[in-house]
Amino acid sequence: MANDAFDSTSGNAGQVRFFNPGPVWVRPQVLQALGGPMLSHRSQAFMDLYGRILEKLPKVFKTTGSAHTLATSATGVWEAALVSCVEGGPVLACCNGAFSDKWGEMSQRLGLETDILKVEWGKAVRADDVKKKLGEKKYKAVTVVHNETSTGTISDLASIAKTIRESSDALVFADVVTSLAGTRVETDEWGLDVAVAGSQKALALPPGIAVYAVSERALEAARKKKFRGLYLDLLDVEAFGKKKQNPTTPSLPLLYALDAQLDHILAEGVEARWARHHAMLAEVEAWAPKHGFKFFPEDGAHSPTVSSLMPPEGVNAEELNKALKAAKWTTGSGYGKLKPTNIRIGHMGDVDVASVKAYLAAHVEAAEKVRSAVKTATGAGA
Ligand code: PLP
Repeated sequence: MANDAFDSTSGNAGQVRFFNPGPVWVRPQVLQALGGPMLSHRSQAFMDLYGRILEKLPKVFKTTGSAHTLATSATGVWEAALVSCVEGGPVLACCNGAFSDKWGEMSQRLGLETDILKVEWGKAVRADDVKKKLGEKKYKAVTVVHNETSTGTISDLASIAKTIRESSDALVFADVVTSLAGTRVETDEWGLDVAVAGSQKALALPPGIAVYAVSERALEAARKKKFRGLYLDLLDVEAFGKKKQNPTTPSLPLLYALDAQLDHILAEGVEARWARHHAMLAEVEAWAPKHGFKFFPEDGAHSPTVSSLMPPEGVNAEELNKALKAAKWTTGSGYGKLKPTNIRIGHMGDVDVASVKAYLAAHVEAAEKVRSAVKTATGAGA
């Protein structure tokens, strides 16, 4: 299939005005695919559809093992991993932002013994710090968020996973929610046991399903666990997957969309897709210092899919977003406690560099508007 990632019928070449860090802009062809005919999820037609997905999905995860879908958001698979594979704990949760914090909190709420490796927001999780913790206790699993969307910070998941594998028997639970299909994720090579992503991020689908890859090691741990619940039992999903089915009623419209979007992604090429995301980040990195915007994350940990930036002196982040919204851009605000000080640019999915350039230019105009409004309000410059 020709690479139609940016053809005129997609309508996105330089035209995307949607920069929320998920849900993201979705190409019209994928939106159309949502309207496929209703089928019984036990019919041959469904198994043909799901069979195609189960063949293509592992290529995005870079695994020769199993990859599946679940009709939950990504958070559902965080829970599935803990509930299916971990008996009692201890779990080590690497926490450097809002999402990784929440996964740690989930582990605690499930009653698992949980230790938190606390890392300052904006800093990457370091393999050496994980290694130190692993030396103190025999953990059953480690949770780590590859790309902290709340702060736009990417950690070196390859070296973290390698360290966990080399220095312990702990399962590696990786959140690749905003990295999968946006930057290098190598499930097999890095030794990830459960790698989970949501549909509404760099996969550029509507929200509503999660996708994940699971290792034989994780399934083996699940087999040894007596109570795994029902809805989120990874072994049930695995068993039904062998029949090209889901244990419960799947989200058929989203599976049609996923089938179509996997074709687009594989036509673009997974590596080419990663490179495009890095080119979008490079654009923001080149632009920011020229216009007084500062990256929130530390140097070397800027996310290829979402930039968290602090606007220049005298430009309030929330006012800037209001000005951009007034100019009909869909923006991303700072996350949680960073809302008053930061903005986030979600450059993920099927967005192209030309659209990012146009959005950055709009920031310059919007910042000027905010400055002049402040001058008018304070009477300065009158
Ligand atoms: N993990 C990360 C890194 C995220 O960015 C998000 C959502 O933005 C989540 C997990 C939660 O995903 P969901 O809302 O799809 O459950």
